[in-house]
Amino acid sequence: MTTNGAASQDQKAAELTHPRAFDYDVVIIGAGPAGLCAALYTARAKLSTLAIDKLIPGGQILNTELVEDYPGFESILGPELAERMQKHAEKFGAKIVMDEVTGIRSEGPDGRVKVVQTAEREYRAKAVIVTAGGCPKKLGIPGEERLNARGVSYCAVCDGPFFNGKVLAVVGGGDAAVEEANFLTKYASKVFVIHRRDELRAQKILQERLFANPKAEVIWNTVAEEIVGDPTVSGIRLRNVVSGETRTLDVGGVFIFIGFEPNSDILKDTGVPIDAGGHILTNQLMETGVPGIYAAGDIRTQLARQVTTAVGDATTAAIAAEKYIEALNERPLEPEPLANAAVEAVVAS
Ligand code: NAP
Repeated sequence: MTTNGAASQDQKAAELTHPRAFDYDVVIIGAGPAGLCAALYTARAKLSTLAIDKLIPGGQILNTELVEDYPGFESILGPELAERMQKHAEKFGAKIVMDEVTGIRSEGPDGRVKVVQTAEREYRAKAVIVTAGGCPKKLGIPGEERLNARGVSYCAVCDGPFFNGKVLAVVGGGDAAVEEANFLTKYASKVFVIHRRDELRAQKILQERLFANPKAEVIWNTVAEEIVGDPTVSGIRLRNVVSGETRTLDVGGVFIFIGFEPNSDILKDTGVPIDAGGHILTNQLMETGVPGIYAAGDIRTQLARQVTTAVGDATTAAIAAEKYIEALNERPLEPEPLANAAVEAVVAS
């Protein structure tokens, strides 16, 4: 005789092996280049695929004017590349929705159901690929928050045209700061790049363009201490870290490009390993250590954060997820979680 508990266990097991236990084979969190590329690959592999993004698809390339380091496109507008990537994924059947993911959990006796929680509902999938990217880092100085969208901006392409003829400050010394400073000189009468060291971090080719730009000037060894103005930005208070000298530079806008904060909070209760900077640690298969959860793109710990690396990661993640799902579909329910080794064996074969 079976007890009620055993009966409901059997029923649960039957539900979990039934295709209806899942809304999608793969749910992708984020629809930037990594998410759209993963969606293209999984949809093309005939896996039912949903990509969820809290904004319109495209991610960071929507904030980039020209992309000129994506093979095959000598120069393409960021938003146009995003649109092409979206259409390409949709052509193979990927569905893209706008919603905000708030968390992920594993369900079922062996954790095989990945439940993606959004503000509106839950999506149950066999595998999840996290390509949620990140948000611009904040300086955290007085005036930054108060004057946000009143002269303080984190997106040159979005806001540059509002600053026609103005003097601007760009804070940062990486690729984003240097590239966007160059871009802003289209509109501004002058762009000062405020950098905390005596050497830029940006790629040499971007630096050369900046140095050759008559409207751009780097202020070295200098940090921003306050953004001033009321009701809009009128200046930025600076301190030279070598001499200690302080001064206020009159500017009509401040663009801040000091890096990226990964959107990895949604993984906090999943057991997925995260590094000190908030990036997800993966192995070379883009596995996170939690079977069925993969990561790709800017959210991942890695050397470079480029469109090319994002789509490379995403390709690997999508193929690894496909192998994982193949193994999952053939595997009976087990009390223990599926081991990553099982997936590696399939990949190696
Ligand atoms: P990043 O490479 O991390 O550079 C951040 C810059 O901001 C650094 O110069 C850093 O100074 C400075 N910084 C950081 N915190 C600061 C603070 N609190 N105060 C003042 N300065 C601060 O970030 P990113 O430029 O946003 O680029 C992110 C990733 O996207 C990179 O991998 C980059 O290659 C990629 N990207 C590529 C392109 C392209 O290829 N066209 C365009 C944009 C971005 P230090 O140098 O002193 O650390």
